[in-house]
Amino acid sequence: MLLCFLPNGFSPCRLLLAGSLRAPSKRRSDHPRVSVERLPRLCAKGRNLSCSAAGLQQICSMRLSPSPAKVCPVCAGPLALHMSAVSDHITGFRFDILKCAICGLGVTDPSPEQLQPYYARYYGSRHGFTTAYCAKRRIALVSKVTGEGSGRRLLDVGCGDGTFLKIAKAHGWEVTGTELNAASARRSGFEVYQSLDECASLAPFDCVTFWHSLEHMRDPREVISKVRNLVADDGFLFIAVPDFGGLQSKAFKSRWLHLDVPRHLYHFTASSIDKMLQQSEFTPLAQWHQEIEYDLMGWSQSALNLMLPTPNVFFDLLTRKKVSAAALQKAVSWISGPLLSFVSLPLVWLGSLARSGGTLLVAAQRVGPGSQRRQAATN
Ligand SMILES: [Zn+2]
Repeated sequence: MLLCFLPNGFSPCRLLLAGSLRAPSKRRSDHPRVSVERLPRLCAKGRNLSCSAAGLQQICSMRLSPSPAKVCPVCAGPLALHMSAVSDHITGFRFDILKCAICGLGVTDPSPEQLQPYYARYYGSRHGFTTAYCAKRRIALVSKVTGEGSGRRLLDVGCGDGTFLKIAKAHGWEVTGTELNAASARRSGFEVYQSLDECASLAPFDCVTFWHSLEHMRDPREVISKVRNLVADDGFLFIAVPDFGGLQSKAFKSRWLHLDVPRHLYHFTASSIDKMLQQSEFTPLAQWHQEIEYDLMGWSQSALNLMLPTPNVFFDLLTRKKVSAAALQKAVSWISGPLLSFVSLPLVWLGSLARSGGTLLVAAQRVGPGSQRRQAATN
């Protein structure tokens, strides 16, 4: 029998024992051993999990990194426990969320050293049938701020299967993407790199976009700082993230669909994004407070998460993922999900109006020597 040893240091197993399950050993110095075969039952308290035994073994063997200093990585404010034992709907492992007292940034704690096993069921038809609408709205917002591409260069960070690259290219942009899992976008003929460093030689870019990718990154402040060096004078930056300070987050707390620990390592607020942009000499230009598919699903699936024992069934069905829930839960999700989404439409509108939706989308522009000269010239 394969055994998972729990020596000093963090591991998901240790989290299980120290958190939701409570350690079977009474003293912290004890090093209990847990069989891998027992983990699905232990971590999910009887719920069905789709994470394989091999995946659990891999996760079990990994170490996690607790936040070394409990200070905010964006503004250096103090971090305090905000939510405890938030469950990952894929593996069942549980994570705390710390929150900055100043800018409101949420930090998933501890942070897995290897994230790949937590993405076992993540990829696929991520946005389902709303892909085309989402891409059209995004390029419309980009065009509203920057004008048409006209041969200028756009970098989409975390480009997924290349859906946005395709529509941006159709609007005149010369496009490049980055994506850890680059095969899908490359098959569509796009130039895709695995990191910002790899595409640095292609700089400067006139526009850089992050469509729900920044929250997955280890050091978002460093990433934005790198992007600053890749963007042309007067170049543009677009960031879309779930709004940790929004109504959905406050209403559903640990059941909020878009919390998605530990894949979302950080949980941004408008204030934390603003501070990060200013630190990297970007000037915020505009904010929007909804992306309809994210916001509708955020309301409907999070409400279902309060009602059903298995999380995210409706979302997984819509995005054509393997769903291990019982037939009754699937039926309830298929019937209630669309109904709840329809009922949520006024809430999406209200959240947008109150600048407190499920999604936060920010446009910013680099403040460079060239732009200062141009500003001075127009004064
Ligand atoms: Zn902060």
